[in-house]
Amino acid sequence: MNRERAMKILRYAFLISIIFLVSFCNDNKMVNQPSSQKAMVISLTADNPKIEAIIHQINIDSVRSYIDQLVGFFTRHTNSDTISGERGIGAARRWVFRKFKQLSQQNGGRLKVTYHNFEANILGVQGLHRNVVAELPGTQNPERKFVISGHLDSRNRNLRDSVNFAPGANDDGSGVACILELARIFSQFEFENTIIFVAFTGEEEGLFGSRAFARDLKSQNVNVVGMVTNDIIGNIVGGSGKIDSTSVRCFSENPTDSPHRQLARFIKLQGEAYLPDFTVNLIQSRDRPGRGGDHFAFYEHDYTAARLTEPEDNLNHQHNMQDLPEFMSFTYLSKVIKVNAAYLATWADAPVTPEALNVEKISGGLTKISWSKGEEAQEINYILAFRNPTSVSYDSLLWVGKTNEFILQSLEPYPDGLFLSLSAVDKDSNESIFSKEVFIK
Ligand SMILES: [Zn+2]
Repeated sequence: MNRERAMKILRYAFLISIIFLVSFCNDNKMVNQPSSQKAMVISLTADNPKIEAIIHQINIDSVRSYIDQLVGFFTRHTNSDTISGERGIGAARRWVFRKFKQLSQQNGGRLKVTYHNFEANILGVQGLHRNVVAELPGTQNPERKFVISGHLDSRNRNLRDSVNFAPGANDDGSGVACILELARIFSQFEFENTIIFVAFTGEEEGLFGSRAFARDLKSQNVNVVGMVTNDIIGNIVGGSGKIDSTSVRCFSENPTDSPHRQLARFIKLQGEAYLPDFTVNLIQSRDRPGRGGDHFAFYEHDYTAARLTEPEDNLNHQHNMQDLPEFMSFTYLSKVIKVNAAYLATWADAPVTPEALNVEKISGGLTKISWSKGEEAQEINYILAFRNPTSVSYDSLLWVGKTNEFILQSLEPYPDGLFLSLSAVDKDSNESIFSKEVFIK
């Protein structure tokens, strides 16, 4: 994002930002910066043609076809049949594998498609299990990786029933459809950083697939910058009967300044920039009460992760034979996939997340915020993000350009203090995930 583009996207300032800027007016300078370049309050908007092209390609019929196919395997229970060509987890994972392979072949072999195999005793049955993995290697920084997942396995009311109907259209056919559709489109493009699409198995019985995968990534010291699981993202009618087709919940582990919440804030800002009529609700919890998902496995291995889920659970259509496509909204599901496309495509071309901010009280009641520039520093601009302690997401974003320091002239607008973070932005307006926050008072 260059200065002209930043000017173009200067749309509005939150009330708090106006207070902030007005109170900092000094000799006709809005803010006092070493470069004398004026800082500007901005909002992120859809201004990257590559991301717009990706989002434009997300196709409802394509998404629906994946889910019909997955339901057609009758059951995808983790311990179901692996020999049949038509039924069970074996047929399902082979179909996902072939689908990834086919997408790769259509796009210059860009996807590296593999099974991730692991041994586990699941519900008393010792066996070999397989996650299905498609990796899209980055062209500049292949070692920086992001994992996006859904889980392939399904269940009905009886967790041990590996034979009878367990359609799992929404739980989690929706998540697998999400990664397939993203893999279909993303593999047509090149990205600087690496994306790993995974269909996990063994989620319902205790996150077996994701735990084995995260464990193996950690043991190989793989730099997983972030992980998002899409689990139950295709229904708009909640258990209360309330219909909401305009939002998705994003769960992330506490505390409020955790790296997981920083990832969630990034998802919200990027997703809403490209889908202005859609809301990513940041939930201040690792998951719904008593529930979990594959992101937990990444927490256990000290990786940053979050979960996306529809606005309100509907237990009439989860973990039973009524988890069927006719109870889903494919228009809604496509929007959640677009949210995923927005943050993932931004991240995949973005600079590395900046190191933590340094805070120094200097004379005259001023506060100096500084940071070190990364190796790509010449082309990198920075955005400072501000929030009140009571705000979950950022109240304002301040474009500060190529500087590596910023002087806060007054903390008066923030009587309870403020949380501050930094994002690095490249010339194509790809923003990094936010840095670790600092609290200033
Ligand atoms: Zn699930």
